[in-house]
Amino acid sequence: MAVALITGASQGIGAAIAKRLAKDGFDVAINHSPKESSKEKALAVAEECKAFGVRAVCCAADVSKMADCEEMVKAVKEQLGSIDALVNNAGITIDKLLARMTEEDYDAVIAVNQKSIFNMLKNVCPVMMKQKHGRIVNITSVAGLYGNPGQVNYSASKAAIIGMTKTIAKEYGRKNITCNAVAPGFINTPMTEALSDEVKTKLLDNVALKRYGKPEEIAGVVSFLVSEDSSYVTGQVIEVSGGISM
Ligand code: NAP
Repeated sequence: MAVALITGASQGIGAAIAKRLAKDGFDVAINHSPKESSKEKALAVAEECKAFGVRAVCCAADVSKMADCEEMVKAVKEQLGSIDALVNNAGITIDKLLARMTEEDYDAVIAVNQKSIFNMLKNVCPVMMKQKHGRIVNITSVAGLYGNPGQVNYSASKAAIIGMTKTIAKEYGRKNITCNAVAPGFINTPMTEALSDEVKTKLLDNVALKRYGKPEEIAGVVSFLVSEDSSYVTGQVIEVSGGISM
């Protein structure tokens, strides 16, 4: 059975991806941050995944830390045998206009959103190379494509992910490893719950479909990108935004 490792999968988009890949038949490794509350949520996601008849394990790791990622990848290999698909989904926001943003705000977002991907790639790519097969999907954002006021840290981290995606696609294509990115628009998750109704309504002005997306609508595209149907797709950024920019 193929194995998928999804980072930041205790809630929101990551949890939806874990459940969708379990439904597709993947054994899933559900990464969650070391917080106790996150562990409980991840265990609940694992139970839902197991209902599809696959194996599901939870792995605590702060993906911004190389040592955590190294340990997690080792543990997943030991418990599930391989890593066929990696979905780099974990992410945070600390939104402020540049004038108010501190160096700590900037560094924290870069560490979790961007450095984490380097950490995961360093540990998972050698595993995929040995297997001579792999699918990597990085979750970026429309903020990385178009920018967004109040998100200079977040949009920098998400734009960097796009460069990393294309580079890994070129470096590892000959090893039968694909690497693509998905750029969500505004999706209903705990991350966007914090926005005021006024901001939420205003954001929809630019969305052709005039509604927020659902985490499952991101998971569906990830499902395609880790499947055999996408075997000739690599280095691409697929926007799933209800048509923010055309
Ligand atoms: P979310 O509900 O806040 O979920 C983020 C997940 O990442 C949580 O499970 C969180 O766990 C985990 N996480 C955070 N820091 C971590 C760390 N250091 N190590 C391991 N896990 C960590 O956010 P979401 O909306 O589902 O977003 C998922 C991804 O989609 C993110 O990369 C985000 O930038 C991207 N995205 C979201 C939207 C949107 O509109 N929602 C739009 C574009 C892109 P804890 O709660 O335990 O910290």
